[in-house]
Amino acid sequence: MGETLQSPRGFHDILPPDIDTFRFVTSTVRDILRLYNFTEIITPIVERVEVFERSIGEATDIVQKEMFVFTDRKGRKLALRPEGTAGVVRAYIQHKLYAQRPYHKLFYEGPMFRYERPQAGRYRQFHQIGAEVFGPAEPLADAELLKIVSDILEALKVEATLEINSLGCAECRPAYREALKGFLEGVSSHLCKDCLERKDRNPLRVLDCKVEGCREATKEAPKMVDFLCQECREHYETLKKLLTEMGVDFRENYNLVRGLDYYTRTVFEAVSPKLGSAVIAGGRYDYLVEQMGGPPTPALGFAVGVERIALVTEAPPLKEKLYFIIPFGDVIPYALKVAQRLREEGKRVEISYRKGGLRKQLEFADKIGADYAVIVGEDEMREGVVTLKDMSTGRQEKVKVV
Ligand code: ATP
Ligand code: MG
Repeated sequence: MGETLQSPRGFHDILPPDIDTFRFVTSTVRDILRLYNFTEIITPIVERVEVFERSIGEATDIVQKEMFVFTDRKGRKLALRPEGTAGVVRAYIQHKLYAQRPYHKLFYEGPMFRYERPQAGRYRQFHQIGAEVFGPAEPLADAELLKIVSDILEALKVEATLEINSLGCAECRPAYREALKGFLEGVSSHLCKDCLERKDRNPLRVLDCKVEGCREATKEAPKMVDFLCQECREHYETLKKLLTEMGVDFRENYNLVRGLDYYTRTVFEAVSPKLGSAVIAGGRYDYLVEQMGGPPTPALGFAVGVERIALVTEAPPLKEKLYFIIPFGDVIPYALKVAQRLREEGKRVEISYRKGGLRKQLEFADKIGADYAVIVGEDEMREGVVTLKDMSTGRQEKVKVV
């Protein structure tokens, strides 16, 4: 035997029973998005690296140090997607979806890749399911997107605080940026090495730093909400009013900026107190479509971190009861007919492939979590019945199946 091979660092197998929780998350989110009339889009896992540089931003952690970049055989620079929005925007523009209808509500699901230090809930390959809305500038769209987030949390029974903030627009953000820069200059002795660099190039990013010292130092930082122009202020106030009317609980977090450059106005995160991190995150990106070569198109979206949220939810047990069929003697065709009939009734059925004594077989049934053992011997076949054993009570009775 050769040396056992391991998956690469940060790359995980998703095994049973974890996969049940994983699928519970994605199918729940899909079901909710369908009710809001979103349709799916599948984009490639690999994009030209510019797709991410031009959208996420050159000065962000993702582009600077977290992307898996490689060249293909013709020397083209490609990247494994670190997130979903950039590719969806690229596709939206490439296929001129904007010409088809006034707006689009799309969702995607799949693996994302980031070269990060692996730890609990943080991997190099992870999965997101996310929604994007192209077209509406109205705060109603923001409010409804947050309502979807709240529906998801409720359906998955995940306890999380919905934090919101506004990052303003091209009108009002520059003045804030300058004010923040001035403030950061004053507290620079408390900032980490990365933030010393960020404070000049991308000062808002300092507010997103996870280092405790930086968090402490920026507690009294100027707030974007105090700098919002008239239109951004109205947008933000209307959003808050709508959320209250819809019964969506939220908390304002004036330091919430998110790790990507493309956001404008509304940003939000659903933060799990148990994990101390976000399980769903998103916001508005009104300039991104234009910036990537499309017509000016306000847009917004969010992404659910599937593995992350799976840490704080649990799939309910399968509805369909499990039947384990144990054939004895020359009864295989009859046992298969029984199996077929039970499956037609929507039951989960396994037939024992092995020969062995009843005790061994029942132990196996117990091990795989069968609700019922179905004993099929030659007597049963002759009478056209099976012996059904309820694994939880131990009671057994003969019943007619076929
Ligand atoms: P964080 O602050 O935790 O690094 P982020 O701001 O980089 O998150 P986003 O780009 O907003 O994350 O991605 C949306 C969601 O995807 C996050 O809220 C998180 O649940 C999940 N996520 C992000 N990076 C990872 C990762 N490396 N492994 C697992 N899940 C992740
Ligand atoms: Mg990150």
